[in-house]
Amino acid sequence: MAELMLGKEVNASLNEKIKANVEALKQKGVVPGLGIVRVGENPGDLSYEKGAVRKCETLGISCRRFLLPKDVSEKELLAVIEMLNNDDLIHGVLLFRPLPKHLRSSVIENALAPEKDVDCMTELSMAGVFTGKKIGFPPCTPQGCMEILDYYGVDCTGKKAVVIGRSLVVGRPAAMMLMDKNATVTICHSRTVDLPSVTREADILIVAAGQAGMIGADHVRKGQVVIDVGINVTGEGMLCGDVDYQAVEPIVSAITPVPGGAGSVTTTVLAGHVVEAAMRREESALKEK
Ligand code: NAD
Repeated sequence: MAELMLGKEVNASLNEKIKANVEALKQKGVVPGLGIVRVGENPGDLSYEKGAVRKCETLGISCRRFLLPKDVSEKELLAVIEMLNNDDLIHGVLLFRPLPKHLRSSVIENALAPEKDVDCMTELSMAGVFTGKKIGFPPCTPQGCMEILDYYGVDCTGKKAVVIGRSLVVGRPAAMMLMDKNATVTICHSRTVDLPSVTREADILIVAAGQAGMIGADHVRKGQVVIDVGINVTGEGMLCGDVDYQAVEPIVSAITPVPGGAGSVTTTVLAGHVVEAAMRREESALKEK
């Protein structure tokens, strides 16, 4: 039987550190604040938003929502971002993406002040992940995967890591982060030939393809650590991952479930970034004095 790597255990450990930082800020009269900008009513965004608001509330982070219709103009959306950039009570901003097609994503994403970019939306933050200079904040989901590996004591040095998915939100940054942890990394994608032969080579397998149950017994071997990032909804309305859990769990040595695994760590990482952004602002204000 595989060791279950549970989001709630990782979260409990992260929550302690975040709460201590929130308390330290409170002593200085600062309440960390998150601004959530949602365009339209995508059910996935609504569910993530609910989780993020609940998480912020429990940790003492204030949360303000800005809800815009799906036909919002670029000018109106940019005005909201500009307003949040100038609002001292907001330390981090979460904007749900992808945006509707009539909006130029890159213009909007890069309008956010880099110091408030808590989910790696701007090119500057992304450059920080790829150059290893850690400018801004890394994207929350792949960082959540790294938190899981750290919490469960998975040493990546010298290990073979395989990431399935090459998106800028999960796959590519996850690969960079694994490389930073001294793993030898392979990225697979929809054009990879003979995926099972590549994934079986992995010591650590991170799956972020968005294809329900695509990783089965053929893709894995004994001794592997598997993180399932996929969030899919079955015909019966149930959540499931990209890994066929029933088939894979008896073979590998550790695995994250869906739900209750990687997805649940993302909002905790987001909350941590908001608090960190507030702390950085306090530090730079002190330096300026
Ligand atoms: P995406 O659609 O942007 O990218 C999917 C990637 O998977 C692509 O690079 C594609 O080449 C690859 N892929 C698709 N089918 C494949 C196949 N059969 N074999 C190999 N590679 C294949 O998706 P994304 O935004 O990166 O998200 C991936 C998954 O992670 C989704 O299920 C999404 O819901 C989930 N997700 C979860 C969180 C969270 O936990 N909070 C956050 C973001 C995304």
